[in-house]
Amino acid sequence: MTVVVVGAGIAGLACARELVDAGVPARVLERADVPGGRLASRWLDDRYADVGAAYVTADDPSFQGRLQSWRIEGLARPWTDTFRGQHGPGPMRWSAPGGLRSLAVGLATGLEITYGAEVTELPDASYVVLAMPGPEALRVADLPAAREQSWDPVLTAVLTYPRRSWDDFGGAFVNDHPVLATVCDDGDRRGDRAPVLVAHSTPQFAREIGRTAIVEAVNGLLGIEDSPRAEYHLWPYAQPRPGRGDFARRGNVYLCGDAFGRPRVQTAWLSGRAVAHDIVRERFGTPSSSPRRSATS
Ligand SMILES: Cc1cc2nc3c(=O)[nH]c(=O)nc-3n(C[C@H](O)[C@H](O)[C@H](O)COP(=O)(O)OP(=O)(O)OC[C@H]3O[C@@H](n4cnc5c(N)ncnc54)[C@H](O)[C@@H]3O)c2cc1C
Repeated sequence: MTVVVVGAGIAGLACARELVDAGVPARVLERADVPGGRLASRWLDDRYADVGAAYVTADDPSFQGRLQSWRIEGLARPWTDTFRGQHGPGPMRWSAPGGLRSLAVGLATGLEITYGAEVTELPDASYVVLAMPGPEALRVADLPAAREQSWDPVLTAVLTYPRRSWDDFGGAFVNDHPVLATVCDDGDRRGDRAPVLVAHSTPQFAREIGRTAIVEAVNGLLGIEDSPRAEYHLWPYAQPRPGRGDFARRGNVYLCGDAFGRPRVQTAWLSGRAVAHDIVRERFGTPSSSPRRSATS
């Protein structure tokens, strides 16, 4: 039996990891040169800045266990439960001293992954797992469940200032702002106090062209007078509308990722794992530790 997992984001890695741990050979194909997908960190000025997911939260017991393992390995640490602009008490938000992508690198260790491998048609395998946003999966296979997904873009700006000139705030939800959705203090998040802020735009703004407005908005919000150096990353498929089930399946082709639940790292991890449990259960009849619901395409 061969399983090919397409996508080395957190969903694909969780799926492949679970399969391999159950004794099922799995190969991962990833178009980028690194694992992580939207769990992304960019190397700038001798340090990583998180340009995708801002932090990780966990309320599922098995993902809480995963997070504790990363903590023991020194990969993750509790960051803050308080964001400016949050309504009521917030969950503990976890960050990664080496950038959030290091969590994906940890999961990828020991897996058979081919990087720089963009898949354009269904690979020949007993099972194929498309672990990616639906619109990207549609380039590989025409899955109705992928067509039903709805996604918004986000523009990320990494702003490197000459010095830290703002009051410590950790992170902020910027409610009802035309340009900004969140701003995080990357130096606080990483723990190195670097003068770096990472802003995520609203979907509406991400669809526009004028990027400099994001710098003006952050400086205005935090009362900063210095001009930063700005690097941008556009995520065309950043946030899905929350979907039902834990994955979708049509024949031997699965679709998984963060569109199956609230768009979070935890959801992607659970979705990928649920696919692995489904394959193991079908092939070996092994009872799964966490029964999951599938949406059949
Ligand atoms: C700006 C932003 C902020 C976010 N903030 C948070 C947050 O604070 N907390 C949180 O929990 N979540 C956050 N998220 C969401 C979180 O990043 C995602 O839920 C999670 O990383 C999704 O993982 P995934 O594996 O489902 O998909 P992805 O990470 O998108 O992985 C898909 C992978 O498939 C690969 N791929 C796609 N097509 C192909 C192909 N044809 N061939 C080969 N490979 C292919 C891609 O390169 C990618 O590596 C944020 C996301 C963004 C973009």
